[in-house]
Amino acid sequence: MTEMLNGIAASDGVAVAKAYLLVQPDLSFETVTVEDTNAEEARLDVALQASQDELSVIREKAVESLGEEAASVFDAHLMVLSDPEMINQIKETIRAKQTNAETGLKEVTDMFITIFEGMEDNPYMQERAADIKDVAKRVLAHLLGVKLPNPATINEESIVIAHDLTPSDTAQLNKQFVKAFVTNIGGRTSHSAIMARTLEIAAVLGTNDITKRVNDGDMVAVNGITGEVIINPSEEQIVAFKEAGAAYAKQKAEWALLKDAETVTADGKHFELAANIGTPKDVEGVNDNGAEAVGLYRTEFLYMDSQDFPTEDEQYEAYKAVLEGMNGKPVVVRTMDIGGDKELPYFDLPKEMNPFLGYRALRISISETGDAMFRTQMRALLRASVHGQLRIMFPMVALLKEFRAAKAVFDEEKAKLEAEGIAVADDIQVGIMIEIPAAAMLADQFAKEVDFFSIGTNDLIQYTMAADRMNEQVSYLYQPYNPSILRLINNVIKSAHAEGKWAGMCGEMAGDQQAVPLLVGMGLDEFSMSATSVLRTRSLMKTLDTAKMREYAQRALTECSTAEEVLELAKVYLPEA
Ligand code: PEP
Ligand code: MG
Repeated sequence: MTEMLNGIAASDGVAVAKAYLLVQPDLSFETVTVEDTNAEEARLDVALQASQDELSVIREKAVESLGEEAASVFDAHLMVLSDPEMINQIKETIRAKQTNAETGLKEVTDMFITIFEGMEDNPYMQERAADIKDVAKRVLAHLLGVKLPNPATINEESIVIAHDLTPSDTAQLNKQFVKAFVTNIGGRTSHSAIMARTLEIAAVLGTNDITKRVNDGDMVAVNGITGEVIINPSEEQIVAFKEAGAAYAKQKAEWALLKDAETVTADGKHFELAANIGTPKDVEGVNDNGAEAVGLYRTEFLYMDSQDFPTEDEQYEAYKAVLEGMNGKPVVVRTMDIGGDKELPYFDLPKEMNPFLGYRALRISISETGDAMFRTQMRALLRASVHGQLRIMFPMVALLKEFRAAKAVFDEEKAKLEAEGIAVADDIQVGIMIEIPAAAMLADQFAKEVDFFSIGTNDLIQYTMAADRMNEQVSYLYQPYNPSILRLINNVIKSAHAEGKWAGMCGEMAGDQQAVPLLVGMGLDEFSMSATSVLRTRSLMKTLDTAKMREYAQRALTECSTAEEVLELAKVYLPEA
């Protein structure tokens, strides 16, 4: 039956393909007494072998799509599967208790998990506990005859349907096959949406209950530009979606002609167009889309893609690769911003009621717990600085004191390296993100001490409106064009300029086609966005006259009381929009 639903348009693109349901199956079972324990042992052997075969295939596919390092976790799982001690204990339990294989498996693996998890000062053993949990789940699924979803094994054109996708789930999607994803929850600025844009995978989020409406293998049509999703579309609907896809591809081809063009407005003013990245691999997309800089390198992905804290050398290599890949163009590296929706499995942070308002980002870095980690990152950055034009910025700054503490670590580590005879660039700019309203209000004071601002509107809007950026129920409050947000942004830009500093923006608003005219009008210096938005923004800028946009922005700031009024006013200044 055909069903239509609407969600939040989170990443452009149109796709029609089969649904791949990424939901965890029911693995519950009953404990029963059995006569024939040999038969249960045999069932266990079959499930173990099937798990092993399956894992070998997953591993191979993961190497192909994600590289050898990302696949190493499966080696650990394969090792658990062939551990004779554990297998013997499971079989002994089956025999001694005359019970089914499911119960034997669960009892023994639970026991190992409890022991290993209890070794709190031994992270290696704690990781083994996580491996055993994963393996036990796989073997149990085979015993119960249910299928565990695994996005790394997708090998035909698919649309992934999930309740939610974490950034690490998203990183595992192979864009050769995954044409789109649709989730129940999430919003335009959740990190899975941001990654979808980087990977150029269409995405519609926040549909509420798509996982309940779709069956694995159903045909699904997704329009990430409008937020429309159709389950089991008719022939005509498929044709319409394919036409929309072709029109989008044609438009992209036109934008592509601007790859090497300068970013100038109709009256010849230059604005810097930069791109946001999550890993060194993304630099290719930055250059392919003709961005003039990296305006935000989210280094936490380096931590999230790793099994343990990345070492100084590992980080150095990553930063060096990005700086070299950008060939002397500026690279703004943000120090790690863990917390919120970005978790680290090996970093045991306390569970909090409100993680977005909690112990996260710079708050960790300048605390005692995070000090060593922060200094390691700083050293790696400073060492890499000689390979290009490095700029460092701190996330989630609320107080000047926090900036000063972080800057002191920069100064101390720089002095130490120099004393060790290690070369460090002497022109590294150090700035902050403005994503907390307190810092936006006090920008005039911050501007005296920092080298630059980069406005993180993804968080600035959520904190100003007190509306979780991940929560589709309150997405109506997520209003980039609300005059309250525009006034904060204007205050930041003016304050920077008064001290001769520059102000950029690296939140998603920087690439929002309705926001760009206002930001040009307010005099924002640098616009950093998903690489895939750069060319369309360059194309838009060519049509804008800065004097007119200044007038538009001024009136929006002083005369408008709602976001709707701001957009209505746009019609006076941008008649063709
Ligand atoms: C922001 O908050 O606008 C930002 C760019 O940082 P992130 O999206 O990583 O929180
Ligand atoms: Mg942020």
